[in-house]
Amino acid sequence: MEVRRPCRIMILVNPQSGRGQALQLFTGHIQGMLTEASVPYTLVITEHQNHARELVRKADLSQWDALVILSGDGLLFEVINGLMDREDWQEAIQIPLGILPGGSGNALAASVHHYSQSPPAWNEELLLSCGFMLCKGLVGPLDLVSVHLASKQRLFSFLSLAWGFVADVDIESEKYRHVGAIRFLMGTLVRLASLRVYQGRLAYLPVKEIESDTKTRAPVDSLLPDLEQPVPDTWTVVKEEDFVLVLAIYQSHLAEDLWTVPGAMADDGLIHLFYVTAGISRPALLRLFLAMEKGGHLACGCPHLVYEKVKALRLEPITPQGMITVDGEVVEYGPVQAQIHPGIESCVSI
Ligand code: ADP
Ligand code: MG
Repeated sequence: MEVRRPCRIMILVNPQSGRGQALQLFTGHIQGMLTEASVPYTLVITEHQNHARELVRKADLSQWDALVILSGDGLLFEVINGLMDREDWQEAIQIPLGILPGGSGNALAASVHHYSQSPPAWNEELLLSCGFMLCKGLVGPLDLVSVHLASKQRLFSFLSLAWGFVADVDIESEKYRHVGAIRFLMGTLVRLASLRVYQGRLAYLPVKEIESDTKTRAPVDSLLPDLEQPVPDTWTVVKEEDFVLVLAIYQSHLAEDLWTVPGAMADDGLIHLFYVTAGISRPALLRLFLAMEKGGHLACGCPHLVYEKVKALRLEPITPQGMITVDGEVVEYGPVQAQIHPGIESCVSI
């Protein structure tokens, strides 16, 4: 970890994120703090989806010491993929990125806040704390995961890959975004009422305890065979094909109040793979999510919940229609595989 006081920062705000108050959050809480700390910044208000992605793809990055997002996780997903779209992505992805929670899904901000060992905080308190950390200018490495879709598209992800219950709740609860982060709890209750089973094949490459990572600058997906080829013998193929959810997560928090991976670190080089098999009762599933608030779901002794630390995974849905999300954003539905790239990104405030 090194201390790098941010000098010139670009702050990208999605005015539509969360309850539609991200700009007010900036002027009300962050602007004064930056002025007080003498941190020069330029404010960019996004006008549409992919505006940030296009801007970052073309920006002269030598002008900036950090790019900071005030929004939910979706805008950071755009920025990271915009950086990875560039010809000079190897250099570009090293620019420190910061996240200030202004959306309804602020998982990375909650995770980074948790890694900093600050006392737990939610909502505007979390924003203030993240703003304070930003002014201190600590920078640390962050894992990224490359995700391959059936159309051969490759995406970069910093948070999660989800299918089934979690993906459905995330997307279906968009319509309650005006209530803020509590939309996930509302969505969970609605989805529980119409709980379904999702059929598919899941396979993964488990982590061997002694393995040490070779950190490379170029994210070559050396662990992944072609998506049409079978997985290698070193992979574990899950016997069950009936799931309630599959969630691959690489940070501690799935949302501000969902502490999904108690032991996770920003650059632990691990994909934390959770799946819940069919047959779980509604009350048992609800219990898992309620326990997750304090990171207690793994201690529930639920026989349907499986947790594995992996380096790579492949999911092939059999259910003909459904939702897959990457960092909370919907991606093309179909076979998908992913592998971790330890610490290739720099994140402010870790
Ligand atoms: P939230 O956590 O509230 O969902 P996000 O940052 O995840 O907030 O943004 C939600 C979606 O809005 C993302 O898909 C993002 O790409 C998109 N987006 C970004 N800027 C705009 C804008 N100006 N208008 C509409 N959508 C936008
Ligand atoms: Mg979002």
